[in-house]
Amino acid sequence: MTSSARTLASTLLEWYRRARRDLPWRGTTDPYRIWVSEVMLQQTRVAVVVPRYEAFLECYPTVEALAAADVEDLLSSWAGLGYYRRARMLSDAARRIVREHGGRFPRSHGRIRDLPGIGDYTAAAVASIAFDQPIPALDGNALRVLARLADERRPVRAGPGHAAVRELAESLMAAVPKGCRGDFTQALIELGATLCTPGAPRCGACPWQASCAALSAGSVESVPCRPARSAPKRLRICAGLAVAGQDILLRQRPADSGIMPGFWELPQALGGRADLRETGLALPCGGGPLATFRHAITDSIFTVRVYEARPGASSDRACEWVNLAGAKELPLSTITTKALARCAMFVRGAKPRDGRRQS
Ligand code: SF4
Repeated sequence: MTSSARTLASTLLEWYRRARRDLPWRGTTDPYRIWVSEVMLQQTRVAVVVPRYEAFLECYPTVEALAAADVEDLLSSWAGLGYYRRARMLSDAARRIVREHGGRFPRSHGRIRDLPGIGDYTAAAVASIAFDQPIPALDGNALRVLARLADERRPVRAGPGHAAVRELAESLMAAVPKGCRGDFTQALIELGATLCTPGAPRCGACPWQASCAALSAGSVESVPCRPARSAPKRLRICAGLAVAGQDILLRQRPADSGIMPGFWELPQALGGRADLRETGLALPCGGGPLATFRHAITDSIFTVRVYEARPGASSDRACEWVNLAGAKELPLSTITTKALARCAMFVRGAKPRDGRRQS
């Protein structure tokens, strides 16, 4: 890296103003809108987020509207964005903002960071973009760009490599003129998302090519270094599908569950068919699975088998018969959504049951 922080900052800002994508959360300094965009963009592609962002803001245009929202409605409107815990945290944080800050988004990085579900990165992004505070926001894109700029060979997600990259980010941010800190935050992320990508970066179009230490050292492909990933865990899940007429038996996950709290799912258990009996379901003798499919999450790959089932004497108390059409309006777990899609023929052919109870 050869240029001064001031030159690097101004070169990047100039490029950003010329080349940035036209995205709906650009050009606003409303902290609520910026916060919603940052939460949606966590681990979800921009192309998926754009239409959902606008629809979400039509439903919940202010932090007060979000705070007043029914959580089940909110989870339904979050469907397709994944990681439903983020939607619950949005609701919790909105309620805290209304209760403790009179509906005004807190301005300081520390107070934003104190809100439920907001980490260092999101707090810094909101503080710099909405309030022009000189606090660098380091997501994966920004870390990669800065690691390459400095040819930082150590891992940059944590430890001394991260500290070195953060120091560089702070020195660059300190050189950004007032009124431009939000643009700088977005420019760094934009550079990582569009040119300085993980594979095949387009260095020939990069505003920092003359100063990039990794480019001059020929190490762009290997920086930042990737920590060795452990192999994903392989697990089995069995789910029971009890159907009567247009009703299916579902259970709701507890509100304090660490995973998908409040979501509805088919009764299920980790393990093989015999383990499904722990849900209290009765299983017809010897039947093979109605469907088998794979479901992958961050560090695990599940093989899911769905079996025909009937409610047993000791069925899980959280189970309820739910009308199939109504079930589609509920927040359903992804495994259950996949299972119902794969068992659609079986569900349609089921016989009515006696004494039905509608949800
Ligand atoms: S020159 Fe290439 S490696 Fe260096 S910051 Fe630009 S895009 Fe990334």
